[in-house]
Amino acid sequence: MQGYGLRRRVLVTGGAGFLGSHLCERLLQDGHDVLCADNFFTGARDNILPLLSDPHFELMRHDITFPLYVEVDEIYNLACPASPIHYQFDPVQTTKTSVHGAINMLGLAKRVKAKILQASTSEVYGDPSEHPQTEQYWGNVNPIGPRSCYDEGKRCAETLFFDYWRQHQLRIKVARIFNTYGPRMHPNDGRVVSNFIVQALQGRPITIYGDGSQTRSFCYVSDMIEGLVRLMDTSDDFTGPMNLGNPQEFTIREIAERIVAIVGSRSVIDFRPLPMDDPRQRQPDIRLARERLGWQPAIRLEEGLKRTIAYFDELLRRGAPLTSA
Ligand code: NAD
Ligand code: UDP
Ligand code: UDP
Repeated sequence: MQGYGLRRRVLVTGGAGFLGSHLCERLLQDGHDVLCADNFFTGARDNILPLLSDPHFELMRHDITFPLYVEVDEIYNLACPASPIHYQFDPVQTTKTSVHGAINMLGLAKRVKAKILQASTSEVYGDPSEHPQTEQYWGNVNPIGPRSCYDEGKRCAETLFFDYWRQHQLRIKVARIFNTYGPRMHPNDGRVVSNFIVQALQGRPITIYGDGSQTRSFCYVSDMIEGLVRLMDTSDDFTGPMNLGNPQEFTIREIAERIVAIVGSRSVIDFRPLPMDDPRQRQPDIRLARERLGWQPAIRLEEGLKRTIAYFDELLRRGAPLTSA
């Protein structure tokens, strides 16, 4: 059954995480009822604390590798640890979350005829041999390496989404999310932006892995959420996959230098070994998102970094236990 009028009942799995908490907030602002399901593996109640008093928000501790029976109109499937440290902590559980989790959420979508969006990733392109990456590129992924639990899990989830679409005519949307940053990133998840900011704020050495010439393209969180909401609202015949990310590409060394400059830190650079299978280059081709959603990132790196630095500065002042490498 559809929700009344424009108010929709929306399930956000992984809603207590970085992206999920911003998405829940946005959906409430848009006037929807939000059910957040999270097992708190990497998410935190703190991320959604201000939402708990909203009568249109409901929080449920739930692991999506187990079935879930609820009545909703839309599902955003974001549940999955996203940083290498977290997804490699229990790699079997990571694959289960992507694969069993997708089956359960697709089964749920099928039963209640809900529209469902998958938070896929640029990691489906692996260490890309095409640059920038378009949605047509099939990727270059190691099936047996330390990143495979995440990369192949997400690839299999995409397969499941498209098979439920072909076989059961589900309304699906697949977003391939590129590196995203902003307030509420997990402070200890070892990702480059949070690591460098915490190191710079604490005046500790900035740990660059390899020589820092590898590139990434960083999207600020509010831009990403706008893209996800617009993708969900596309007509039923549109499935994606669609790249969402900021095409402005930087070397890791440039990111380090910018963060040190904004913070005004005296941190020195500490070169460390490059992790195995670390992609050399990554930049989304977002022509499809521009054409189909009229979307492109609005927040420039400098501005996004300032906002993120302010968030971590506040966390540190409150004495949060930050243990970046
Ligand atoms: P996050 O770790 O902050 O959020 C993931 C959330 O999922 C957490 O709250 C965690 O507790 C929850 N979770 C994990 N396993 C679960 C399970 N089995 N059942 C229920 N909840 C579970 O990460 P994020 O950066 O917010 O990423 C959200 C989604 O976006 C993920 O699917 C991730 O793969 C995808 N993504 C993120 C980025 C990025 O740069 N942040 C890039 C590409 C894709
Ligand atoms: N499922 C769920 N909630 C529902 C419906 C299904 O979690 O409301 C799960 C259930 O565990 C099931 C899976 O989704 O195994 C796949 O459902 P589907 O109907 O596609 O397949 P089947 O029930 O035949 O396994
Ligand atoms: N990286 C780094 N120092 C750090 C953390 C990460 O040089 O303290 C590098 C990492 O090797 C990779 C890039 O920054 O080349 C982005 O890493 P992250 O884990 O944030 O994202 P992903 O590799 O999943 O894109």
